[in-house]
Amino acid sequence: MIQKSPVMRKCISCRTTFDRNNLIKITNDHNLGIMVNQGMGRSAYICKSKKCYTDSKLKKKLQKALKSILNPDFFDIFEREIANYK
Ligand SMILES: [Zn+2]
Repeated sequence: MIQKSPVMRKCISCRTTFDRNNLIKITNDHNLGIMVNQGMGRSAYICKSKKCYTDSKLKKKLQKALKSILNPDFFDIFEREIANYK
């Protein structure tokens, strides 16, 4: 394995900077819509602290960051993804 220098990204909730690998990536894919840890396009990052991924303003913050309206399905996908980190 080639050691790559970490890519740092900011959590949209707590605004702390983390190694991208330690964040949950939400992407507004050009063709496929909103995706979690997949897709190409405008992305927002959330850290894996419960305070952040259960933030009551998360939806608003994500919609602003992604410049897109999140459909209700998104949170089903997101919750399933979050379940992996508990
Ligand atoms: Zn955070």
